[in-house]
Amino acid sequence: MNNPQSILAAVAENLVSNNIKVVDLTAPLSADTPVIQLPPERGQPWPFKRQVISQYDEKGKEVYWNNISMSEHTGTHFDAPIHWISGKEFSDVSQIPTQRLVGPAVVLDVSAKVNNPDFLLERHHVESWCDIHGPLPKAGWLLYRTGWDANDRNAEQFLNSGHTPGISTECAKWLAEETPLVGIGVETVGTDAGQAGKFDQPYPVHWYFHGADKYGLTQLKNLSLLPPTGAILIVAPLPIVGGSGSPCRAYALIHNENL
Ligand code: MN
Repeated sequence: MNNPQSILAAVAENLVSNNIKVVDLTAPLSADTPVIQLPPERGQPWPFKRQVISQYDEKGKEVYWNNISMSEHTGTHFDAPIHWISGKEFSDVSQIPTQRLVGPAVVLDVSAKVNNPDFLLERHHVESWCDIHGPLPKAGWLLYRTGWDANDRNAEQFLNSGHTPGISTECAKWLAEETPLVGIGVETVGTDAGQAGKFDQPYPVHWYFHGADKYGLTQLKNLSLLPPTGAILIVAPLPIVGGSGSPCRAYALIHNENL
């Protein structure tokens, strides 16, 4: 560490030599990408849509391009604090400090314990994990692996009529208010459990994380390829001015021996 430039030089060298692997955590974006479905009286986010502008044809002989439409919360996406009323005084998605979009990530894997779709992560699960792997990372991300990404090829199965795993109210409040995390990442369509609208504090992950100026990340894939600790997460939401969130790309850097 004598020469600060040598740190990045070492990273670059290890990227080129594949000692550092870049794992894509992003779900592909298409008209088939599952989108959260809310009760009919509420507003609904749009699914992804792509429409050809021209494709080497009379509208543009030399060019292929598309118009696209979707909601800010379609597919793998980032939830900014102002997404929730508890965080409305905090950042929109264009205002997130970039330093908070790259950071350490740990993976808490309960996929073997998810024996029913309404499984909820409790504080004791996280504390047991910490007993083995150490404290949750400062300015880092907790990536919550339930194995739910295995359902993502079938929208009906993925959404499962609103029965999808999540985090209990008590655990969400504790993670948001008493740990040094900047965000929580999940494999499901939203950061909260499918049934979280019925909890004592409805949608507790949204409520407490955004109320603490923290972030959410959804519809992640490939968490099974990451080590429990040691990955670096890179999240890249679009800087939509005034936006509550954005579809994004998410990558993890890991040491090659983990693959
Ligand atoms: Mn969202």
